[in-house]
Amino acid sequence: MRIDKNKCAGCGQCTEFCTLGNIAARRRDPHTGKLYYEIDEDECVDCGVCLRAAVCSAGALFMPQYEWPRTVRSAFSDPTVEHRETKVPGRGTEEIKTNEVTGRIRRGFAGISCEMGRPSVGARFRDIEKVAVALAGLGVEFEPNNPCTRLMADPHTGIYKEEVRNEKVLSAIIEMIVPIEKTAEILAAIRRVSGEVDCVFCVDLITVLEEDNTVPTLPILRELNWPFRPNGKMNTGLGRPLAKEG
Ligand code: SF4
Ligand code: SF4
Repeated sequence: MRIDKNKCAGCGQCTEFCTLGNIAARRRDPHTGKLYYEIDEDECVDCGVCLRAAVCSAGALFMPQYEWPRTVRSAFSDPTVEHRETKVPGRGTEEIKTNEVTGRIRRGFAGISCEMGRPSVGARFRDIEKVAVALAGLGVEFEPNNPCTRLMADPHTGIYKEEVRNEKVLSAIIEMIVPIEKTAEILAAIRRVSGEVDCVFCVDLITVLEEDNTVPTLPILRELNWPFRPNGKMNTGLGRPLAKEG
């Protein structure tokens, strides 16, 4: 996102809507003394919230015609932009919320996601890569139908394409499905690498309930002393549950 300094009236109203806090700085033209705001484009994730807030009566805010790899920012950060690869907007993956239809995760397996970055912080792919590399070293397979995986130069190593490593997004999800017995090892690796990552992230551990309605991963979390919040999420209106446990 950019501000046309010639049009900007220096009111600062748009800055209150920035999902990353105050990444725009007030400037004064040394020749005319006119005040204007300037967005730090390296920090901006092109989420478009400031523009959609429609508070700029001067018409000074605009989204330039960015090219690859800059375009990954809006693809991951602006929910109105659809990912080309998966046809899903936002973070570009169906995630577990649609598991009753997709059946991605079956009994005996756990879905593990690392939701990298959050509003007000964001994440750069070089940090997302640190987590991905740690997990790839354990032999996990990343979800192929996820744009975060598609940006890897090699999903077997978790290394990202060089040109995207410095790109910043509001949030991106690393996803994988593993046999339940591998869960403890993977969570331990995530905990180890978390200290090296310069962004916030949260970990989702997803399972299908057992026939007796118990959650098979809870004993693992208790054993590891991981704080957890059991959470059932259902997207109503998706339609018939197409995936059946066999
Ligand atoms: S709302 Fe418009 S005029 Fe005011 S600071 Fe933002 S870009 Fe400038
Ligand atoms: S596009 Fe998003 S991150 Fe960039 S300045 Fe606007 S609100 Fe902030």
